[in-house]
Amino acid sequence: MNTLIDTLVIGSGFGGSVVAARLVEAGAKVTLLERGPWRDTAALAAYALPDKAPLPQGRHLPTHLLRQLSVAATGQTSTLQRDGFFDIHVDGGMTCVASSGVGGGSHVYLAMNMRPEQADYWEGRAAGITAAAMEPHYDWMLQRMGSRTAQAQDRAPNLIAERFADDAAIDTSVPQPALGFRFGGPYGNNAFLGDTAGRKVTLDALLLAPLLDRGLTVLDRHEAVSVSREGKHWRVEVRDERHDRQRFLRARRVVLAAGTLNTLRLLRRSERKGGLGSLPGLGQGFSGNGDVFALWRAGEQGEDFRAGPPCLGRFTLKDEPGSPMLYALGLNGIDAIPGLPEALRRRVADWLVLVGMGRDEANGRIGWKGDTPRIGYQEHNNPVMGRIHSALGKLARRSGRRVLAVPPSVTVHPLGGARVGDDPQTSVINHRGEVHGHPGLYISDGSALPAAPGTPPSMTIAAWAGHVSQHLLATGI
Ligand SMILES: Cc1cc2nc3c(=O)[nH]c(=O)nc-3n(C[C@H](O)[C@H](O)[C@H](O)COP(=O)(O)OP(=O)(O)OC[C@H]3O[C@@H](n4cnc5c(N)ncnc54)[C@H](O)[C@@H]3O)c2cc1C
Repeated sequence: MNTLIDTLVIGSGFGGSVVAARLVEAGAKVTLLERGPWRDTAALAAYALPDKAPLPQGRHLPTHLLRQLSVAATGQTSTLQRDGFFDIHVDGGMTCVASSGVGGGSHVYLAMNMRPEQADYWEGRAAGITAAAMEPHYDWMLQRMGSRTAQAQDRAPNLIAERFADDAAIDTSVPQPALGFRFGGPYGNNAFLGDTAGRKVTLDALLLAPLLDRGLTVLDRHEAVSVSREGKHWRVEVRDERHDRQRFLRARRVVLAAGTLNTLRLLRRSERKGGLGSLPGLGQGFSGNGDVFALWRAGEQGEDFRAGPPCLGRFTLKDEPGSPMLYALGLNGIDAIPGLPEALRRRVADWLVLVGMGRDEANGRIGWKGDTPRIGYQEHNNPVMGRIHSALGKLARRSGRRVLAVPPSVTVHPLGGARVGDDPQTSVINHRGEVHGHPGLYISDGSALPAAPGTPPSMTIAAWAGHVSQHLLATGI
């Protein structure tokens, strides 16, 4: 018979790592399951962790690029490389990109650490949740991340606010995003293929590894398959990928934090296997946070935007009240892709990647083909995306430089679908983060968000996880 785990957390991104750290730091014992491996970066060099896997850079790119590919149209979900980095769901409604590994999205992300666009984001979501009560959870996370904007003494190259300060088309005087990043250089190869040098602040090194001998157990390469009630406790079916075997774990409390689509899959599979009864609110309120991607040939001949922090900053259009926010990054990391001709690298060096973002209506709905999501989401019902496309068109005209829109409906910010609320018909969890009608089962990741923050969401997910931790601690450790 398995020993009873007190708190089992599934997934180690912003939602999972924060719950694990806050509980263990308060004296609790936590077991955390993560389907991916620990990543081999300088930030973890001090820890004796066996069997770390490389980031998908250089010669490791072909073997470590793609963990999971799912296709809504066929209903197929495949694990392609167990230690792969990206998790891609291809869907006519909305294609979603996430990642895999201890630390979750903190390896792939651009380190932008922001509060929601609106200060009252948390008001009126469910009884007992207020914006004021959530504030200390944002503060805790931003402080732990050491988040700040770039300063002159950082000598960070290519910052939008400096490079385009006098530009006729764009306004860079908007508040710039704080970054969870150790400034000071060198400034290359630190963005969406991860940062082997460890300058990007990642959750494995910040929150998890330091707690390994203080009450935290991390089972890496362990994928949760389903959860079901067993008497007063929870039974979790697990695939132990390290030993290629199935395991069952028993826990008093389970916290789902597998990232939005994977948490929804876990709920769906558990529902189908009869482990959870029916969850009428499952799949409602899906949001892509208004993401629209484009490429902008912003540089002068020979200019090179490849160097810099993971995100170079953000801007709006000049003389255009209400113009949406556009975030910019260089093709930082492209040098870690082997085999690209030097001429091509130089050719793309003066392009910026732009990500338009804003508060969409969070009106998507997830259907299913087997256990593979089918995302019902329509851009024309989400006006913010039209405003972003229109701003990109104006940017091209006013700057006189080419803007290429990336095909529609791709998001790196899938959110909602198991959102917080008071009504079990339209939401999945209550104000404590506990699944309606299922005491002891909690959700702390992006799937719980009740609406689009309109800014990069990791701090809002972390704040929600802090709030859930508070309730877990209140029920005893
Ligand atoms: C290219 C890119 C850039 C981004 N830039 C930013 C940014 O600058 N700022 C920002 O705020 N956000 C950014 N994001 C979004 C941010 O990364 C996510 O919103 C955030 O990581 C979500 O946190 P989470 O806890 O919900 O899930 P995740 O961080 O995705 O963590 C989930 C973890 O659970 C694991 N897992 C999944 N299924 C299972 C299972 N069945 N069993 C066990 N483990 C499982 C996964 O491997 C993963 O490690 C970016 C995302 C991408 C892809």
